[in-house]
Order: sequence, then structure tokens, then C-alpha cells
Amino acid sequence: MGGSGETDVLVIGAGPAGLFAALELARHGVRARVVERAPQPHRQARATALQPATLEILQQAGCLDRVLGASVHVGFARVYDPGLSCVSELALAGSGCPWEFQCSLPQWRTERILTERLTELGGGVDRGISVVSVTEREDGVLAGLEEADGTRRQVEAAWVIGAGGAHSTTRASMGEHLAGSTYPGAALVADVRVTCGLPRDGSALIGCPEGYVFLAPLPGGRWISFVGDLDRQEAGELGRDPAPGAVTAAIGRRIPAGLVRVDDVAWASTFRMQRRLAPRLADSRRFLLGDAGHLSSPLGGEGLNSGLHDGANLAWKLALEARGRARPGLLKSFAVERMAADRQVLRVSDQVHELARAAAESARTGSFPTPPTPEAVAALVRARSMLDVSYTGSPLAGEHVGQDGQVLEGPGPGDRYPDRASLTGTRHTLLLSGDVPDSEVAPLRHRWRDLVDVLPADGAQSAPRAVLVRPDGYIGFRAAPADRDGLRALDAHLDSYLVPAAG
Ligand SMILES: Cc1cc2nc3c(=O)[nH]c(=O)nc-3n(C[C@H](O)[C@H](O)[C@H](O)COP(=O)(O)OP(=O)(O)OC[C@H]3O[C@@H](n4cnc5c(N)ncnc54)[C@H](O)[C@@H]3O)c2cc1C
Repeated sequence: MGGSGETDVLVIGAGPAGLFAALELARHGVRARVVERAPQPHRQARATALQPATLEILQQAGCLDRVLGASVHVGFARVYDPGLSCVSELALAGSGCPWEFQCSLPQWRTERILTERLTELGGGVDRGISVVSVTEREDGVLAGLEEADGTRRQVEAAWVIGAGGAHSTTRASMGEHLAGSTYPGAALVADVRVTCGLPRDGSALIGCPEGYVFLAPLPGGRWISFVGDLDRQEAGELGRDPAPGAVTAAIGRRIPAGLVRVDDVAWASTFRMQRRLAPRLADSRRFLLGDAGHLSSPLGGEGLNSGLHDGANLAWKLALEARGRARPGLLKSFAVERMAADRQVLRVSDQVHELARAAAESARTGSFPTPPTPEAVAALVRARSMLDVSYTGSPLAGEHVGQDGQVLEGPGPGDRYPDRASLTGTRHTLLLSGDVPDSEVAPLRHRWRDLVDVLPADGAQSAPRAVLVRPDGYIGFRAAPADRDGLRALDAHLDSYLVPAAG
């Protein structure tokens, strides 16, 4: 263990971010203690869209089949006019991901699947325990716990993962805040049964005279619905937990009753959409994941997703640190990489938020701007799918180029490895193609024998090339040519953040 506490890693909060971090840690051989304030799991739909890039990391984590089986697959984003005629359609196709659709699933079901996987891996959640204080010490972190009956205890941990949501105790202990802004107007979100003629393979944004209504299919014939642009009076009348009749009336005021009939409201809430990021996502022993570190517009559908990507980025690094195999730069790279990624997530969510609002307004008024170019649509689909998140510029991204200075086309260091979903192990993968002499590879293979798997790459390449893929599926290093100099550069790159095998 890397510290002197009772537990290596304490995860605060069993929302999606905390659960995924804990299960990824378990997959990497670290058993974290997860504490959760709520005595029972909730049954709220909340964030429902799992993006294609997230499906890739769920595959790596060993729980994608369950998500695919339980969810509705949403391959289109459509815009409708007030009479429910479709005026535009964006297909999530052509992005190059094995799953070119979103999985739509109530958040409580996503959390249940993550909990099941965590349990399979030997972990679990201690419920009914609130963390009331977090104090950093020289050799660890001291957390004050309070049980449901008021009993208080302290627990020492080497590292704390703050995944307690927007009101994070860990973030407060770091003296950080969520900097940014709140979008104008309140919104209503509800999990409802809807009788309508809308196809269930896509989401529907309906531009109505009184603002927009967004509907996306959920399993069991249900839909998640958003009603935007509530004025102060309507938001006040709805209250924080609106009554079912008030939800039906709010949607009915916007879409004529003959077109859509809403009944059976399972859950509803009013809320404000936010665009916020903590200026610092980690110090040496505390890490902010999910809503504790960032909040984005639900119309962008990336909030929950980016929390899972935070965990995928941190888990392998923390596991190597706990095993004494990391140099100091490895853990530090979490904040650098996720800060860049979360900024991108906020940019894209903001763009999607504004596009959705503009599209709803066009559908309402019937005045349409010039359609975007195919290139712009392709870029939007990749961004929407979260496949364009890149760690380029990270200290963990490096490259060796030959004397001709020619840089290879295609995904480069820091980018997502396109076939990452097929890499379900926990080590780095070194993919070699072309004529790479075994005599040059053998020392590298030996030095990194328990941290790097060396595999032949697909393709009929004759020039020697090497691509190093990190355990989280991002390209860490590329050597072209993978000659003696190239492989030495690769070895030095690994040595910059990892400790090689002894002997
Ligand atoms: C009412 C509501 C409606 C939402 N609607 C949408 C939506 O429509 N679309 C969308 O995209 N997103 C929505 N969200 C946001 C979405 O749910 C979050 O982005 C997502 O849940 C973030 O996951 P997380 O794990 O970071 O945090 P959370 O899901 O908030 O989980 C944090 C967990 O930590 C626990 N916890 C907090 N503090 C402590 C502590 N001190 N000790 C122990 N446990 C603690 C909490 O009980 C909670 O279970 C909604 C959120 C809420 C609350």
C-alpha cells in the first residue's frame, strides 16, 4: 500500500462516477472502499444517454453486454415542428466506433449494472455513511464518517476519490469551487409514458410556441422528457418535485393533446442547467471525479459520461501508484489530461445546447438556416459521440519520427486508439507492424514484461512501426520507424512515468 491508512483508496459517493472508478480500480487489482450517504439506491432516471465512446470503456470494463441488453439504442437526433413533422435528422453513423448509437437507460439502471460488476470484481458499497470531513495529511487523507444513527468515526486512506456530486465534500476540503455559469431559465425533467407516433430509434426535439420539449426513448415504452424555458412563474408553480398532473399539464401546454398523450409520471424534477468546471481537479491525494469536478448541460448529454471517463483515466494510474510502479508524473497527469478533456466536454455540450435551442426555434418559426456541410456534420457526430476527446499535449503522449521528419497520418499520440474496445486487459499494449527485428524488441519486452503486452498489429505494413496503447485505450507513443532509435525512444518514454520490472 502506498500510504499508512486503513484503506488504500476511499471513494466518496456511489453515483455513476464513484461506482465506475471503484470497478475500474478493482479490475486493476485495487479494492477501494466506497461509502455512500443514501441508505438505498435511488430510482430516478436523471442522466440517461450513454455515448458511443462510453460504450467502448464499458466494454473494456466488462459490462457493455448488460448495458446493450437493457437499453434502447438511439441512433438519430431529430427535430420536429409544433405539428410533429420531422424537419431535420442527424444520424450518429460514420463515426468509426463499433457502436454508432447512444444507449438510453435510466440512471438508476446504469448504477445497478455498475454495482453488479463491482460486486463481481469483489467490491461493494457501504451505504448509509456520510463523509463529513476530509483532511489531507502528509502520508494520506483522514476522512470523518457519520453513520445513519449519528455514530462518528475516522478512517485513513492513502488516496480519496471525491465522487460526491455537485456538492462535493472533497472539493470543499480542497478549497475549490465550480467556476462557470448557469444557463438562463429553469427546465423540467420527467420520466414518463408517452403515447405518440414518434419513432423509438431516435430522440425528438420539438420546437413549440412556448419553448421546446425534448423526448428520448427509455426502456419499457417510457421516455425521458425535458421541457425547457420555464418562466419564473411556471417553475415556481411546478416546484422542485412536481406532481404528476403538473408534469402532464406542462407538456400538454406545449404539444397539442391529439399528437402526444402523457401519463404515468415515474419521476420528475425542475432544475437549472450549468456549465462549470473546478479550477483544480486533484492534488497529490485527492481527486475530483464526475459532477464534483464539472457540470455540463444535460442537452449535451455528457455529464454522466465524462464522470465515467474520469474514472477510466484515473484507475490504472492509481493502481500502478499503489503497486509502487509509477513515477510521480503518472498520477499528476490525471488532472492535466482530464482538465483538457473536461474543457472539451463543456465546449461540445455548450455547442449542442445552443444548436438544440436554435433548431427548436427554427422548427417553431419555420425559418431554417443554411444546412451545415457534410464535414461539419461528421465533426459534430464525432464530437457528439465523445470520440474526439484527446490527450494530445499530455506528458504521457510522445512520438519518434525518422530522419525525414515525416509524421504518420491518422490518430496520433494522445488520441483514442480506434480499436480500443478490443483491448480489455489491464496492461499497456505495444502493437508492432512491419519488419521490427526481434533482437531490438527483446530487451524492451523483458524490461516491461509485467506492464506491457507486445502484440503484432493487423495490416500488411512493411515499414517497422510501433504504437503503444495505454490501459485506458489512448495512444501513448508512436514510433515510425520502429528501428533501434525508435524503440529506445519508446523505452525512455515508458521510463518517464513507469518503473520497470526488477532484474
Ligand atoms: C435531480 C437530478 C436530475 C438530473 N437530471 C439530469 C438529466 O436530466 N440529464 C443529465 O444529463 N443529468 C442529469 N442530472 C445530472 C446527472 O445525474 C449527473 O451528471 C450524474 O449523476 C453525475 O454522477 P456523479 O457520480 O458525479 O454524481 P451523483 O450522481 O450526484 O452521485 C454522487 C453520490 O454521492 C453521494 N454523496 C454525496 N456526498 C456524499 C458524502 N459526503 N458522503 C457520502 N456520500 C455522498 C450522493 O448521495 C450520490 O449518491 C441530474 C441530477 C439530479 C440530482
